[in-house]
Amino acid sequence: MRWNTDRPTTGWGRALRATSDVARPERAAQLDQALAPAVGNRRSYGDAALNDDGRVIDMTRLDRILSFDRATGEVEVEVGLTIGDLARVMAPQGWLPPVMPGTGFATIGGCIAMDVHGKNHHGAGSFGQHVTEITLIQASDRRRITPADTGIFAATVGGLGQTGIISRARLRLMPAKANIVTVTERRATGWDEHIALLDASQATYCVGWIDATATGHSLGRGILEEAETAAGLVPAPKASKKVPFDAPNFALSAPIVRAFNALYYRRVPEAGRTVVKPIQEFFFPLDRIHDWNRLYGKRGFHQFQCVVPVDQKDALREMLEAITRSGLASPLAVLKRMGPGRAGYMSFPMEGYTLAVDFPNRHAAVKLIERLEQMTVAAKGRLYLAKDSLATGDQIKAMYPDHALWADEAAKADPTGALQTDLTRRLDLRDMP
Ligand SMILES: Cc1cc2nc3c(=O)[nH]c(=O)nc-3n(C[C@H](O)[C@H](O)[C@H](O)COP(=O)(O)OP(=O)(O)OC[C@H]3O[C@@H](n4cnc5c(N)ncnc54)[C@H](O)[C@@H]3O)c2cc1C
Repeated sequence: MRWNTDRPTTGWGRALRATSDVARPERAAQLDQALAPAVGNRRSYGDAALNDDGRVIDMTRLDRILSFDRATGEVEVEVGLTIGDLARVMAPQGWLPPVMPGTGFATIGGCIAMDVHGKNHHGAGSFGQHVTEITLIQASDRRRITPADTGIFAATVGGLGQTGIISRARLRLMPAKANIVTVTERRATGWDEHIALLDASQATYCVGWIDATATGHSLGRGILEEAETAAGLVPAPKASKKVPFDAPNFALSAPIVRAFNALYYRRVPEAGRTVVKPIQEFFFPLDRIHDWNRLYGKRGFHQFQCVVPVDQKDALREMLEAITRSGLASPLAVLKRMGPGRAGYMSFPMEGYTLAVDFPNRHAAVKLIERLEQMTVAAKGRLYLAKDSLATGDQIKAMYPDHALWADEAAKADPTGALQTDLTRRLDLRDMP
């Protein structure tokens, strides 16, 4: 394997950085030559895919579809394949990945290692619940594991890449009348209505955009999107755009975000509306703006994402109040209802409500996020490791009750810690001496 030395890399938030030697193998057989953390397209916001002063193996060239059973929808892939490409190839054949995160650039390896969730988590559960087999490369072993291998499977799905390099996976796709999505958009005028609409939704896909600048009676206002796949004429996709340079600091200042959010809220008529979108546009709405993370300027940004149990919605409301008071939020703020589905010891989902908000990387925002993290702990909630860059190890261990089981499996699979990343070291997750 050829190593490109001293490559600067960042998480998607660009607030955390690393310098690493990076290999991009073209053949799976090359993976046997060295054990180092595997990474996908680095769509994790913080340091999950970083290994400062060390090596990483970029899996994105290993992206073949190896087999597909049209009758059952089972597909075997090399895990550098992106979820967006899998959807693009399979949708015309009447199948879709059963779970899709908000970006099509996530690789299947990244989806497994973070046990990602989609806009249908309340019905479909997490990504790992649809994985039937994983090929895992460890220091002295290449093995196939299935959900019947309970310990190692639960430690690998959502396992942050700490049990081995995932090279292949088998997944069960979901039948779908897919190449378009019908989306019903309606306004939620405030917090209580927003929560009530989420609770009452019977739609397969459901997500709320929140105006995180609205206060008073309008606190929690937003737009609820409910969607179903359908067959029909595909509307022309919107043109792709690129953010060509790091935006100046004022680009996301409070008055600009407030004005943008007010317009965005009113884009949906008071009575609501139903629109038809190409599948990529609904599932991966930000992907057509390449490098949109540069909008936050050179210092980058952080995303705070928590989930709290159903009976803690008041605690979530208090978090939103703290966010709106700060005037620091960006327009990217999302509220979803989650079901209980999770497949791994370190999987994020729990039954409840998840709130995700982006903040420019400034001192005041870091202080606010630290406070929101403490509020999450108090609400018996959880922070998402795909987004985190600021939590402490004690907080995370307390939120993930199966952490010790995961750490034991990781220690058996990788006794020397060769697969550690900046995230596992920052949070001391591996409990290595
Ligand atoms: C715009 C946007 C929207 C998002 N929306 C959602 C969402 O709705 N739901 C959600 O759950 N997540 C969401 N995410 C987060 C994203 O889905 C995850 O961070 C995902 O893991 C990214 O995949 P990746 O291929 O870029 O992985 P990376 O970020 O490169 O890596 C993630 C982790 O997986 C490990 N890993 C990657 N490949 C392998 C492999 N082959 N073997 C072993 N370990 C591996 C890495 O070591 C790292 O720990 C979103 C991210 C963005 C940028």
